[in-house]
Amino acid sequence: NKAFDVHSVRKDFPILNREVKGHRLIYFDNAATSQKPQSVIDALVHYYTQYNANVHRGIHSLAEEATAAFEATRDAVKHFINAAAREEIIYTRGTTESINLVAYSWGRQHLAQGDEVIVSGMEHHSDIVPWQIVCEEKGAQLKVIPVNEQGELELEEYRKLLSSRTKLVAVNHVSNALGTVNPIQEIIQLAHAQGALVLIDGAQSAMHLDVDVQALDCDFLAFSAHKMLGPTGMGILYGKKHLLESMPVFMGGGEMIKEVTFEKTTYNELPYKFEAGTPNIADAIAFKPAIEYINTIGKENIRKQEDLLLQHATQRLKEIEGLRIIGDNDHKVSVVSFVIDGVHPQDVGILLDNKGIAVRTGHHCVEPLMQRFCIPGTIRASFAFYNTVEEIDLMVEALQKAVKILR
Ligand code: PMP
Repeated sequence: NKAFDVHSVRKDFPILNREVKGHRLIYFDNAATSQKPQSVIDALVHYYTQYNANVHRGIHSLAEEATAAFEATRDAVKHFINAAAREEIIYTRGTTESINLVAYSWGRQHLAQGDEVIVSGMEHHSDIVPWQIVCEEKGAQLKVIPVNEQGELELEEYRKLLSSRTKLVAVNHVSNALGTVNPIQEIIQLAHAQGALVLIDGAQSAMHLDVDVQALDCDFLAFSAHKMLGPTGMGILYGKKHLLESMPVFMGGGEMIKEVTFEKTTYNELPYKFEAGTPNIADAIAFKPAIEYINTIGKENIRKQEDLLLQHATQRLKEIEGLRIIGDNDHKVSVVSFVIDGVHPQDVGILLDNKGIAVRTGHHCVEPLMQRFCIPGTIRASFAFYNTVEEIDLMVEALQKAVKILR
C-alpha cells in the first residue's frame, strides 16, 4: 500500500468539492451511506454507454461483456471476505434484503414452536423486524442481549440467554448508532457451542474492519455496497455453501430456475437459485471498483485515519458543555453519537447544515437502543477515511455556536 495522503484521496471523490449553503461540504453521514470515488461513477457510465445488456441469457457480445463484468464482482467479493467458494456470494439489494432472505428461507424452514432467536439490544431495525415476523409466524421467541451504560453488549447475559433452544444468533459487527465494535468472534463461538447458527450484520464493518468469514466461521454475513463506496441497490449475502444448498428458494421467477413446466419447476444451482429476475446489473458491476479502491488504500490505512478522526472528535466534543457521548467506550470505529443538554438534536442538525455540515439526527433505525438510553435520538457524526481533522474542528466550532443560539 502507498503512503496514505488524505488530500490526494479526497481528489478521487468529486462530491467533496461541492458547496452546501455557501460552505464547502463537510460530509459526516458516512454510516448512512458513503460517498463514491470517480472509478465507481465511471463504471456505471461505462456500462450504460458501452455494454448495457441483460446478463446470463444472451449469446451476443454485449450480453457476454455484461455477464463477465457482473460475475467478476462476485470473485472480488469472495476474495474481499475470504469466502471458500464463489457460490457462497449471493447478490441482493442490500443488507436488509440479505437478512430477510435468511429469515424467510432458513427461518421458515428451521424455526418452530419453542425455538429461540437471539438478537442484540443495538440491532438496526433490519436485523430485528425480519426475525420478529418469522418468530411470530412460527411461534418462536426473540431474545435480546442487553447493552450496558457504555454502549457495549453484556456478554455474561448473552451466555445466560444461550441454550439448546437457541437456533440462531443475529448481531451486528459494528453498531451504526454508536460505533461499538462487538466481539463477534466470541459471540460466534459461544453460539456454535450450543449448536446455533450465527448471522453477522456487517453493514457497518465491511469498509472499516477486516472481515474474514472463514476465520470468523460465521454462517451468514450481510452487507451493503453503498456503505463501502459502491452504488445503492446492491448488497451481499454470504452463506456457508451447505446451508445455502439446503435452504428453500426465496423468490421465484426467471434466472433462479433450471426447468419449468406447469407440473413442476426445478431450481438453478447456487448462487443463481437465490437471484430471481433481472438483477441490478450496473450496480453489481460498479461494486467491483469500490472494492478495488478499498483494497488499494488498504484497510489498515483506512482504520488508522478513521481512528485518528474518532479520537480527535471524541476529545474535542467533550469540550462542549452539557454534551454527552452515547456509547463512550474503547471498542469503536468512526462513529460518535451524542446528545447535548437543553437542545434538540434536530435543531442542531439544521444549524450544522446551514454551515454545510451533514450529520444525522434521530433514532438511526435503532429505536429500542434509544429507549434503552431513554433518549429520543442523538446527533451522529460518522467518519470516513476521506474526512479530515480540520473538518472536525469546523464542526465543533459550529456546534458551539449552535448551542449558544439554541439554549
Ligand atoms: N444494519 C446496519 C448496522 C446498518 O447500519 C444498516 C444501514 N443503516 C442496515 C443494516 C441496513 O442496510 P440497508 O439499508 O443498506 O439495507
